[in-house]
Amino acid sequence: MLRRIITPQEVAIAKKDFGECRNVVIVCHTSPDGDAIGSSLGLYEYLKRRGKNVTVIVPNYFPDFLHWMKDADKIVRFDRQKTPAYTALKMADLICCLDFNDMRRIDELGAAICKIHCKRLLIDHHIDPVHRQFAHVISHPELSSTCEVLFRLFDAMGETDKLTFAAAEDLYAGMATDTGFFSFNSNDPDLFIIISELLKRGIDKDLINRRIQNNFSPDRLRLIGYMLYEKLQIFSDLHASLFTIRKEELAQFHYLKGDMEGIVNMPLQIKGHKLSIALREDTEKPLIRVSTRSVDDFPCNEFCAAFFNGGGHKNAAGGTLECSMDKAVKIAKAALEAWRDRLEDKPLPDAAECGSQAPADAGESK
Ligand code: 5GP
Ligand code: MN
Repeated sequence: MLRRIITPQEVAIAKKDFGECRNVVIVCHTSPDGDAIGSSLGLYEYLKRRGKNVTVIVPNYFPDFLHWMKDADKIVRFDRQKTPAYTALKMADLICCLDFNDMRRIDELGAAICKIHCKRLLIDHHIDPVHRQFAHVISHPELSSTCEVLFRLFDAMGETDKLTFAAAEDLYAGMATDTGFFSFNSNDPDLFIIISELLKRGIDKDLINRRIQNNFSPDRLRLIGYMLYEKLQIFSDLHASLFTIRKEELAQFHYLKGDMEGIVNMPLQIKGHKLSIALREDTEKPLIRVSTRSVDDFPCNEFCAAFFNGGGHKNAAGGTLECSMDKAVKIAKAALEAWRDRLEDKPLPDAAECGSQAPADAGESK
């Protein structure tokens, strides 16, 4: 029913790796999002159903609006729970790496994994996976989310009967969050066949949408108001915007991690807008976190790679700058200027270039 995207070789890899393992660790990227947690817990559910001993380890904090997922409370945080994390890593005979393409993207957890001798399987949808870091790679950048890759993999393996209600909820959540609730990167009809399959397992997608989207404090709403009213700089000629937020400003709104989630998408509601850039002072490290969102063909990942030491997807990417906020603003403005020709409207070609369509004897219009 679904287009064949997962190759027979990938099916063989997954069958072998999932068949042979007994003790599995699943890891995902730093500051995990809905797709990272959804794919990790979705795979956890599947492997548990197959009788495996499974531990999910995340590098650091993940937002409150993802804690409703079944067994989210069993997830081990590497930054806070070193003992259980190392116990699971030492026992592991397979480490599944989900929703990232490079061990360096998962900080100290990546360094810890690289020190132990254990087979690594990557399942992901980011471009340019670092193949040498993994024994096996199942990577599909053309797909919306790692959750979609996973569903297709289970489907190609003939294993969708092992998808529990909780796994269906997890996979839906990841596909929904990585596509802005099916508002970008989501025109593949197969996505809706997959959603239909998940709905058949009894999930309530409206409830999941609410759990993720309507789960914030009053302070977060006031922070949004402040950002949009006081902080948003709009470059109308470039169809782009920039906002910045410093640590002291976040403290004013009793900032909790996750409160900034999605705010960078909002300027794209402006008619004709192509690019939104957010610069946020990290609350722990002396860093500026850059987030970008775009519409259509503007490649945020290339833009972030060129100017912000980052990468990501075409319409959603990020990076970091190790400098002051003032310097970061200068870099962002220079980046906009450097890519002016990709952002501003192209002048309409003049009539001479196109060849005049007017009849030779046409007089002045009346
Ligand atoms: P966000 O704006 O939500 O922080 O990140 C959006 C996407 O950009 C993430 O899903 C991730 O793929 C990518 N991304 C964010 N920060 C970085 C970074 O520092 N380096 C790279 N390579 N990708 C990033
Ligand atoms: Mn993802």
